[in-house]
Amino acid sequence: MNVNATAYVDLMAYQRQTEALAQVAGRLGWDQETQMPRGAAEQRSEEMAAVEGILHARRTDPRLSEWLAQAEPADDVAAAQLRQIKRSHDRMMKIPARLAEELARVTSMAQGVWAQARAGENVAAFLPTLARVIDLKREEGAALAGTGDPYDALVDDYEPGMTAEAIAAMFGAMRPRLVTLRAAVLAAPVPDALLGRFEPEAQMAMARTLADTFGYDWSRGRLDLAVHPFSSGSGSDVRITTRVVETEPFNCFYSTIHEVGHACYEQGIDRHYALTPLGMGASMGVHESQSRIYENQLGRSRAFTGWMYGQMRDRFGDFGIASAEEFYRAVNRVQPGFIRTEADEVHYNLHVMMRFDLERALIRGDLQVADLEAAWNDRFRTDFGGVVDRPSNGMLQDVHWSVGLFGYFPTYTLGNVYAGCLNGAMRAAVPGIDEGLAQGDTSLATAWLRENVQRYGSRFSPRETITQACGFEPTEVPFLDYLEAKFRDLYSL
Ligand code: ZN
Repeated sequence: MNVNATAYVDLMAYQRQTEALAQVAGRLGWDQETQMPRGAAEQRSEEMAAVEGILHARRTDPRLSEWLAQAEPADDVAAAQLRQIKRSHDRMMKIPARLAEELARVTSMAQGVWAQARAGENVAAFLPTLARVIDLKREEGAALAGTGDPYDALVDDYEPGMTAEAIAAMFGAMRPRLVTLRAAVLAAPVPDALLGRFEPEAQMAMARTLADTFGYDWSRGRLDLAVHPFSSGSGSDVRITTRVVETEPFNCFYSTIHEVGHACYEQGIDRHYALTPLGMGASMGVHESQSRIYENQLGRSRAFTGWMYGQMRDRFGDFGIASAEEFYRAVNRVQPGFIRTEADEVHYNLHVMMRFDLERALIRGDLQVADLEAAWNDRFRTDFGGVVDRPSNGMLQDVHWSVGLFGYFPTYTLGNVYAGCLNGAMRAAVPGIDEGLAQGDTSLATAWLRENVQRYGSRFSPRETITQACGFEPTEVPFLDYLEAKFRDLYSL
């Protein structure tokens, strides 16, 4: 083997250990949310810090630069591996060690401060900490961006290649159609469905059936309860969580389908990529496209909800909804609300757009932390027509800013936009999807997604991934067309 081939082999062996350790760190996080005894919190944070310390040292090891300089890729896959390693190495090297440490320290502390402030409805208690986080994120953005826009550098971490300007243009094109649709739907209200109570055990049994239905591989995963639904891990160990509220079965069922979408993406990646930089989703946006298409374009379709209604009748008897059509309306009910995570398909992206504008202004310095609550509440009144009644329904509702996730929110809407593109392309390419869904069979759709998106992992950039799958460059148009067609029909507009 020549020196360049040896460098590649050494680099990949080293990288594999780093990826394995990162999986261990992720599993400690999963355990903390699902199984860990309460009294273990302090020791756990020390355990996590120890693993993170080792990971940071490995990711900044000087040998990486040497290997990257010498390694010659033998094929396209190797070239993609090197591109990914170089990308994260470059990012790592641009951030001074002092800043990385300070960010880790402040954000882990800030999450606790945020949780307490939210529980006590006390914005003032959170603001000094938030201001510190923002200062550090601005510094990080500036270190990464050089002469460019610091916010772009933060976005790029979650959605490689995407810029704030491109996002702003896309959101600008979406807003008028969303606002018009929202106004029309809200002017045509439907009666509220009255649901009873649903046994937690029976909800979990139904959640497991739904995971089965969407092709979740139980031999490489498991489902547990947690406060917030999430998916974690990759390769042959991808775990999901859901939550159960006795009076809100749809919350459990659709959270489960959503997380199954994330998990099936990870499980669907080419197994040769396991424990390599290609063995994970291409970006947060592409990840969210999978969870959203499973949850909405498939899971909330008329065909699938028809099957789901029968399942629920079998399990819960008469549960307060008289027909499959009424059930379809109930799970697609549009109503204004304060909380992003509970928003319907029509409102959801308006919540994201508001956060994007506010956080971009915070990072630019156009908005001061002291003015954030007023700016939030003003914007909410303009966009949603309601008055925020308390901070936990307003600017304290999301964990993201406290843990330094600036530039993350727009990837939720990008996910919806990509899901719209994929749904359009998939339905044009594959006949009979709805006939299958009506029987509880999602395999035509999930096989298409696995074949055209999931198996590639991070082999291609997010934009390339979607473009190759769809045969066209992603735009917001297919998503908006889908939304308008669905909700104009649902609300007889
Ligand atoms: Zn998600």
